Amino acid sequence: MSKLTKTVVVVGGGIAGWLTAGRLAAKHQSHKAHGLNVVLIESANIPAVGVGEGTWPTMRNTLKALGISETDFIRECDASFKQGAKFAKWCTGKEDDFYYHPLVLPQGFGKTDLAAHWLAKQGQVSSFSNEVCYQEAICEQGLAPKTIRTPEFSDVANYAYHLDSAKFAVFLQKHCQEKLGITHIIDDVVVINSVDTEYDADKGDISSVTTQNHGDISGELFVDCTGFSSLLLGKHFGIPFKSCRDSLFIDTALALQVPYDSDDSSIASHTISTGQEAGWIWDIGLQHRRGVGYVYSSQHSSEEEAKAVLAEYVGEKFSSLDVRKIPIVSGHREKLWHKNCVAIGLSAGFLEPLEASALVMVELAAQMVSEQLPQSREVMEVVAKRFNETALYRWQKIIDFLKLHYILSERTEPFWADNRDPETIPQSLKELMKLWQYRAPADHDFTSNNEVFPAASYQYVLYGMGFKSDYCHTTYIFEDKELAESHFMQNKKLIDKALSSLPSNRELLNKIKEFGFSRI
Ligand SMILES: Cc1cc2nc3c(=O)[nH]c(=O)nc-3n(C[C@H](O)[C@H](O)[C@H](O)COP(=O)(O)OP(=O)(O)OC[C@H]3O[C@@H](n4cnc5c(N)ncnc54)[C@H](O)[C@@H]3O)c2cc1C
Repeated sequence: MSKLTKTVVVVGGGIAGWLTAGRLAAKHQSHKAHGLNVVLIESANIPAVGVGEGTWPTMRNTLKALGISETDFIRECDASFKQGAKFAKWCTGKEDDFYYHPLVLPQGFGKTDLAAHWLAKQGQVSSFSNEVCYQEAICEQGLAPKTIRTPEFSDVANYAYHLDSAKFAVFLQKHCQEKLGITHIIDDVVVINSVDTEYDADKGDISSVTTQNHGDISGELFVDCTGFSSLLLGKHFGIPFKSCRDSLFIDTALALQVPYDSDDSSIASHTISTGQEAGWIWDIGLQHRRGVGYVYSSQHSSEEEAKAVLAEYVGEKFSSLDVRKIPIVSGHREKLWHKNCVAIGLSAGFLEPLEASALVMVELAAQMVSEQLPQSREVMEVVAKRFNETALYRWQKIIDFLKLHYILSERTEPFWADNRDPETIPQSLKELMKLWQYRAPADHDFTSNNEVFPAASYQYVLYGMGFKSDYCHTTYIFEDKELAESHFMQNKKLIDKALSSLPSNRELLNKIKEFGFSRI
């Protein structure tokens, strides 16, 4: 009989570690005597990365699955609502240059191709995102995606979160320990021990990890959440790292925390991503401060130049703030699950913070491992093979989608010009761009059910960046003009309704702190 999975050891107590341990414990009833034993080992000496403030809407389901109350989460993690991203100065670099990638799908998406109808009217109407989706108007007014009467995790407009990642890790730890029955060990893993057998299928598996003060911790499955060090999958197993530097040039972040001018300053309801000469600046509004950072390519900018760009963006407060430099190595491991070890989080890979794709990859991986947890060693290879195929597909699609943001820019600085070099564009993206010369992105362009970004997201970026699909040979598409017009009208009505009924982001957050949402 092959070894049964009784204990999962998660190494690392950053967000990836706690989310994964939490997902496993919640699904497999670790708080009960017969449940799965989940152990999380976290070093007190090696700090978590401590950035990562933008999530996807998927985080709502993840929190729900862990049994977390949205009110508690918002109160304790300095969290606010995020309704997409505003991309400023990515296209021409001029002051009036911006577009939105909202979280609500275009009106009538899948029923009619509003992109074709919008392209036919271009120049006479406003931006694509504003004509087909009511969320841009909500964000421009700094409004929340719901009201205090909307139950926890439900919405009026689809939303994700901005959060303080250090507070989130502490909040998850407390919840996981108190409610989910996870064993927490604070110690350094110093040695990784292998199964010592000549013939069995588990030869070379990890049998235990040796800690500085708690001895050997054994398990049947080990989850590597050790951040950029990738201690188990990278260092111990030597699984090679696949660099994406050829396509995505960002390799350095300068991050800082900017206080608001006053307690009632407005809180942006979207991430603001502003193009700069060698990269872009993120600006994320939390309840008590903003998280701001410049991610840039060191081949296109010196650190001094980057600091000057950031100083100009932040204004006079800059000189009194601490700037943290974080190197970024863009890429991922060649495989993510090897033998009885799976890497989740930064240990698996990281590209750049654009479109907040890191935490969603953690959520997807944690969900997959908990749902498909191999019951015994015998089935682990099969689960691992599928996990690797899915995860590698997702990494490639994220690379394509991130690169799409750069290739249509008209900016002339070397960073942007180099990004347009066809040699730097993945073949898979080139193929999609060929298709989209003549029509808008549609769900059938993607052949897997493991897509991370829906076709709607590609539409928002393409038409936001000024791309024009040429429908001149496709007259049939305009036969449903009436239907399309009714969707455009519907969008206008939804904008009016939202603007007259939604509170400001700050107002709602204050009410949540005072009264809380009705619990589900
Ligand atoms: C500049 C920047 C901006 C980002 N912005 C976003 C964003 O907006 N949205 C998003 O989704 N993601 C973002 N990310 C990614 C996000 O920060 C991470 O995906 C997330 O924080 C998860 O990190 P982690 O848990 O994998 O690693 P870490 O936070 O680095 O945690 C690693 C853990 O492993 C432990 N550890 C390491 N070695 C040992 C050892 N030997 N023994 C015991 N424990 C050990 C450490 O103590 C720590 O607890 C950003 C990343 C960067 C660099």
